[in-house]
Amino acid sequence: KLENATLKAELGHASWKLFHTMMAKFPDKPTPDDSTALQSYIHLFARLYPCGDCARHFQELLRQFPPQVSSRSSAAAWACHVHNQVNKRLKKPLFDCSNIGDFYDCGCAEEGTPATA
Ligand code: FAD
Repeated sequence: KLENATLKAELGHASWKLFHTMMAKFPDKPTPDDSTALQSYIHLFARLYPCGDCARHFQELLRQFPPQVSSRSSAAAWACHVHNQVNKRLKKPLFDCSNIGDFYDCGCAEEGTPATA
């Protein structure tokens, strides 16, 4: 089957949005169970990501840069960093990770996260 670059990019754009928004809603002070859940999610996301080449490269990035799941800010900074590694490979502009705190908003009004509900 031929590659369709438009669909591949759309999938990536949507996936990054979910990925970063999930980090932005991760607890400031996660329980050990919250951290284990995020750690598993990241590894399963990398393993099951539908673009096979992307998944292989991203799994290699996880080995190089192990997920940081001890707090919201460390998870968000880590995710920004690995996305920038992908940007670098694809020769895309790098994102300024000092702005990550305000950039991703789920639009949901409620306090807390599913993990703490
Ligand atoms: P995207 O990279 O999709 O970013 C979307 C938006 O996120 C940007 O417009 C910007 O506002 C913001 N953003 C950019 N950088 C960051 C950052 N560091 N932190 C937080 N926010 C940021 N495509 C390939 O062709 N080959 C691959 O190997 C490949 N691997 C991928 C692996 C994964 C896990 C994912 C999720 C996607 C992968 N993609 C790959 C897709 C690629 O990363 C882009 O999503 C796609 O090319 C669309 O790019 P875009 O210009 O819309 O910006």
